[in-house]
Amino acid sequence: MAVSQRKPGDSNPNDQILIARTDRPGTDHLQYVWVLVCARRNPGGAICGHRYGANGSDFHIRKCPSCQGGATGLGIEGLL
Ligand SMILES: [Zn+2]
Repeated sequence: MAVSQRKPGDSNPNDQILIARTDRPGTDHLQYVWVLVCARRNPGGAICGHRYGANGSDFHIRKCPSCQGGATGLGIEGLL
């Protein structure tokens, strides 16, 4: 398994920012839950700020479930 070079603060092309890597198992094989926050600005200029969990393997393609129509995120209760 390749070691990911991703670290908190990294963002993907959809303005989703990695804020934490956790040791909670994700829903994909050998993946852990990563906590993402949406930094996309709405037309009024405010940042979305939606937080959700995703498998680490999906980070680079993840879209915000709140404002970009992405898939529902994994639960992050108790992780932050
Ligand atoms: Zn959003």
